[in-house]
Amino acid sequence: MSAFDDLMAFQRQTEALAQVAGRLGWDQETVMPEGSAGQRAEEIGALEGVLHARRTDPRIAEWLDKAKAPDAVGEAQLRQIRRMHKRMSKVPAKLAEEIATTMSLAQGVWAECRAKEDVAGFLPTLRKVVGLKRAEAEALAEGGDPYDALVDDYEPGMTGAEMAAMFDAMRPRLVALRERVLGAAAPKGLVGSFDRAGQEAISRELATVFGYDWSRGRIDMAVHPFSSGSGHDVRITTRVSETDPFNCFYSTIHEVGHAAYEQGINPAYALTPIGQGVSMGVHESQSRSYENQLGRSRAFTGWLFTRMREVFGEFGIADAEGFYKAVNRVHPGYIRTEADEVHYNLHVMLRFDLERALIKGKLEVSGLEDAWNTRFRADFGVAVDRPSNGMLQDVHWSCGLFGYFPTYTLGNVYAGCLVKAMRADLPGLDGRVAKGDLSEATGWLRDKLQRHGGLYEPRDVVRRACRFEPSEGPLLDYLEAKFGGIYGV
Ligand code: ZN
Repeated sequence: MSAFDDLMAFQRQTEALAQVAGRLGWDQETVMPEGSAGQRAEEIGALEGVLHARRTDPRIAEWLDKAKAPDAVGEAQLRQIRRMHKRMSKVPAKLAEEIATTMSLAQGVWAECRAKEDVAGFLPTLRKVVGLKRAEAEALAEGGDPYDALVDDYEPGMTGAEMAAMFDAMRPRLVALRERVLGAAAPKGLVGSFDRAGQEAISRELATVFGYDWSRGRIDMAVHPFSSGSGHDVRITTRVSETDPFNCFYSTIHEVGHAAYEQGINPAYALTPIGQGVSMGVHESQSRSYENQLGRSRAFTGWLFTRMREVFGEFGIADAEGFYKAVNRVHPGYIRTEADEVHYNLHVMLRFDLERALIKGKLEVSGLEDAWNTRFRADFGVAVDRPSNGMLQDVHWSCGLFGYFPTYTLGNVYAGCLVKAMRADLPGLDGRVAKGDLSEATGWLRDKLQRHGGLYEPRDVVRRACRFEPSEGPLLDYLEAKFGGIYGV
């Protein structure tokens, strides 16, 4: 066995254990009994300890010194292992374990406080989380920008300053579009109740239509939809609201986008360092392409309108054109995950500025609620009415996911680029999509991007797929054309 082979064999077991850790997380969010939370935190902490020990194993440095990659794929494997090893070596084992245990418990505290609208009850926990993440960020940054060090976990190669520049470029056009749209008459929404069984049936059909491989996946219910796993076990969750079937349908399509990426990666990469989505931004570009650019297109909503009429009967919308407008209704709500395409990125920008200030120590946890509410009023024109509609709405900060939010908007930006390139390559696309045939579109994404996994750097894989330099331009052009058309502005 060469050093490279030894390293890859060792890595394969680490990746397998990481998948097990992920499945414990999936279980916690779907079927775990309520009384098991304390024990589960300990189980996850123990497994994270094992993973940390493996990822910082001194043999890795020795193998990396001697390893010679046999080909370009091997080079990419070594690059990923080096990156991960360097990162893990910088964080003391005790801190890593404390973070894992704290985050697992903090999530439960957050859920309880959110249900009770209890900001004061959550603050001590959040203070602890922020303190630990600041310590981790400083260990990782080694004198550099601590927020950049956290962003690098989710979007390798990207910095907070680059994100800020991108947001600055987007903001004026988004705000102007928002003003034009809100000044016009709003289209009609759905009326009536949509039974659970019907929603679940259409949700499963949507997963199939968008190419979800059921032989290597399953759908369950969760409070917050997510996808989990990679390789040959990629599971998704969705949720049902009887008055709002779009919540279920578009959550499903979104998570299928994430899952299709993982399922679409070259099977030869399974349980290796490049056998998963290359970054959160690229991941989100897949879910957003599926959900918005394709799923909320005029072509696809025509098909969905027909299916919904077959399953639910009348629901107050006369035709496919009205249905397309209902799907894409713009309204300034409080909740990010329910936001339309015009408002969504404004929600992200608010969180980005606040969390960046928190990690850099320019904002303290005690001032967070005030800062959130002031900013929300300025950006959205309404006052936050309760904490679950404000700073308690997202799970991310309780899990220590600082640096994650901006990747949602980066995903939208990449989706704008990818679908622009896809449409140039596939001129007859809308005709097929209108018949509920997404195979050409999902096949294009699989071939151009998904199958590569972590073979290329995040921005590079998007650039290769598009054959142009990614920027926010295509997304903004798409939003202005789409919502300008719907609202006649
Ligand atoms: Zn997503």
